[in-house]
Amino acid sequence: MPPMQDATSGSSHRPLPASARRFIPVGAATFLAALFLTALPGVAADGRPGQAKPRALAPSAVVMMYHRFGESGLPATNIRIAQFEAHLKELATGTYDVRPLPEIVAALKSGRTLKDRTVALTIDDAFRSVYREAWPRLRRAGLPFTLFVATDAVDGGGRDFMTWDQVREMAKAGVTIAAHSASHAHLATLTPEAVGRELETSNARFEKELGFRPRLFAYPYGEASGAVIDAARAAGYTAAFGQHSGALHGQADFFYLPRFALNERFGSLKRFRRAANVLPLYATDITPRDPTLGPNPPAFGFTVGAGIRGLRALTCYSSAHGKLKVSRLGPRRFEVRPPRPFAAGRARINCTLPAGGGRWRWFGYQFFVPGK
Ligand SMILES: [Zn+2]
Repeated sequence: MPPMQDATSGSSHRPLPASARRFIPVGAATFLAALFLTALPGVAADGRPGQAKPRALAPSAVVMMYHRFGESGLPATNIRIAQFEAHLKELATGTYDVRPLPEIVAALKSGRTLKDRTVALTIDDAFRSVYREAWPRLRRAGLPFTLFVATDAVDGGGRDFMTWDQVREMAKAGVTIAAHSASHAHLATLTPEAVGRELETSNARFEKELGFRPRLFAYPYGEASGAVIDAARAAGYTAAFGQHSGALHGQADFFYLPRFALNERFGSLKRFRRAANVLPLYATDITPRDPTLGPNPPAFGFTVGAGIRGLRALTCYSSAHGKLKVSRLGPRRFEVRPPRPFAAGRARINCTLPAGGGRWRWFGYQFFVPGK
C-alpha cells in the first residue's frame, strides 16, 4: 500500500492568524528562472555518456518529531501514552540505532557512516508533559532525544510549559537542547530584522539560562523562506529542521531538513514503523528553492540520486490535490505541477518510491504559502 499523504497540517499547534500573513510578490523573472532551473540541470548532468558508475548509496537517518504527551483534546500535537510506548517498544527491538541528533548531523556532514535505520527523536516546544510523561520513559529506555525550546514560552512561566529549572535538569542529564525561536513566530512572515531579533533573543536567553548557545534549530510550524534560512545560517546554527517528511542524507540542505510528525492521527505503530524504515530519494536541485511559495501552483522539480532504481514507480501526492501527475524530464529529473494553487498557509508534497523489503524511499517538502 503506498504511503499516500503524510501528516499535513497536523503538526501545527497554533492557528495562523490572517493578520500575520503577508503577501510576498515574486517577479516574472524569478518565475522564468524557476522554470528553466527545473528543466535543465538533471538532464544535462545525468544524460552525459561516460560518467562514473553510481556510487554506493550514502548513509541516511530519520528524525521523529513529537509535541505533547498524553494530553487528550489536542490530537494535532499530542501523542497518546499508549502510542508513544508502542513506539519506544519498537525502538527497543534492536532493529534501529537511536542516536543523538547532533551526532547524526555531524556524521552526515562529514560523510561518516551510520547504521541502517538510524533514528533520532525530537520534541518541540517544551510542553510540561514532555517533562512529566516523555522524559521518564525515554530515560528508562536509555534513548537520546533533542528538545527544541521557544524561549518566550519558558520565560512566560505558564503551567503548560516547562520551567528553566526543568530544561537545565534535562540539559545536565544529556538531553540535547535546541532552539525554536523566541516567540514561536511565523518567521516567514517577519521582516529580516524581526527574524534576526527572534534568533538573537533566543540565543541570549539560552546563554543566560544554560550557559551555551544551541547548535540546532527548528523552524516554528516548519515554516521557512530563503531569508529565514539565511538568518538561521547567519545565527551560527549547524542545521535547521522543518516539519516535512523524509530522510536526512549528506547531499540535503542542512538548513531545511525533514522530520516525521507523530501525533494521535499519524501516530499508529504501523506508521511509526514505516517512517523509521524510510530511506531517502537523495533529491537534489530542488525547485523552487524557496520554501515560501512565489508562483502558485509551483512547478516542483527535483533530481533523484544516482543508484536508485525503479523510478517508474515514483509517486507524488499533494496535501491539497491528492495524487499528482509525475513528469520525467530526464533520466533522474522529475517535475510535478499541482493542478490548482495551494491555499494560504502550509502545503506539502510527498514523493515516494518502493525500496524493497517493505521499505519506502521518501522525499517530502513543505511550502509556506503567503496569504493576503
Ligand atoms: Zn513549535
